[in-house]
Amino acid sequence: MPAPRLRSRSLRKVFRKVPGGRVSLHHKKKRPKTAKCGNCGASLKGVPRAFPFRMRSMAKTKKRPERPYGGVLCSRCMRQAIIDKTRQ
Ligand SMILES: [Zn+2]
Repeated sequence: MPAPRLRSRSLRKVFRKVPGGRVSLHHKKKRPKTAKCGNCGASLKGVPRAFPFRMRSMAKTKKRPERPYGGVLCSRCMRQAIIDKTRQ
C-alpha cells in the first residue's frame, strides 16, 4: 500500500524500469493541458499552462495575448475571422 500522501488522485502513476530490471511505481504531479484554438485546435501561444488556482492569482495580461480573440483563437484564425467579418 502506498503512503497516504501518494494515494491522491491528483498524482499520476508512472511505471519506471529500474537498473535491477524491476519495475517501480513513481508518482508524478499532473500537468494541465495547453490551451487550444477554438477553431483549428492548435495550441495557443502566450497562454500559460497552469492550474486554475494559479491562473486566478495571475494578472489578466499574463493569461492571454492582448489582441482581439486573444486566448480564444490562434493568430492565424483571428486574422481570418477579422477578414471574414469586414468583407460582409
Ligand atoms: Zn486556430
